[in-house]
Amino acid sequence: MMLKGKTALVTGSTSGIGLAIARSLAAEGCDLILNGFGDAAEIEALVAEIARTCGVAVVYDGADMSKPDQIEALFANAAPKGVDILVNNAGIQHVDKIEDFPVAQWDRIIAINLSSAFHTSRLALPGMKARGWGRILNIASAHGLVASAEKSAYVAAKHGIVGLTKVAALETAESGVTCNAICPGWVRTPLVERQIEAKAKEGGIDIEEASRDLLAEKQPTLRFTTPEQLGGVAVFLCSPAADNITGISLPVDGAWTAR
Ligand code: NAD
Repeated sequence: MMLKGKTALVTGSTSGIGLAIARSLAAEGCDLILNGFGDAAEIEALVAEIARTCGVAVVYDGADMSKPDQIEALFANAAPKGVDILVNNAGIQHVDKIEDFPVAQWDRIIAINLSSAFHTSRLALPGMKARGWGRILNIASAHGLVASAEKSAYVAAKHGIVGLTKVAALETAESGVTCNAICPGWVRTPLVERQIEAKAKEGGIDIEEASRDLLAEKQPTLRFTTPEQLGGVAVFLCSPAADNITGISLPVDGAWTAR
């Protein structure tokens, strides 16, 4: 119960990595503000289930992370006293060559995967600094460190969030607040499942063969990182052992970026 009495906002926590990180923080006694899209009844059930199983307070705010005014409203309504832990996780993907990339998709990816983290950080930091403790975890990607073709907006946004992480670390260096980026390789969530399905369709192969090809291309361990492992990494970065770890971009990528 290392995080008892703390409150975390995890953006995009109705699915995948964000949900697993939220569960791991709650298992350590942390109160939660969940966020993200999804079926209202399913989200209500999720809120009740985490609150019951972990004995923590859980609220949900459906702010669209591409909209700065909705992010401001989330802080005003769900976190009037601020948050102790901010996990900037909400993210989307679109795959196309630069010359074919829909302009609206570029704008949306930059807004959700990058600018939202600026807005949540600017709103969370005053309270964290005043309390002398805070954790910002930016869920970047191996694509924050290296590129792949046909992912221009995603790679630009993820490199951007790695830069934002470093600036936030410098600006908070003496304050008790740390800011780090986590850079996962392939994690089998709905975001990646769609890419596996596209690969299967393109190659006329089945889903499992497509998932093996996807790993073989980038991730030398040939194993997916699990959302639960990322939850464990997030808890570690919130622990006293990580008090002096700030400004880093931590690959959890099965050696993707080692070569
Ligand atoms: P996912 O699709 O399972 O979850 C994305 C979450 O973001 C969902 O809860 C969704 O509702 C939410 N979301 C999407 N648009 C939103 C918006 N406008 N406002 C608020 N919430 C919004 O995807 P995931 O794989 O769990 O991805 C989570 C993060 O991890 C993303 O930032 C992604 O780039 C990053 N990441 C994923 C992988 C991977 O292999 N899955 C690898 C590296 C990094």
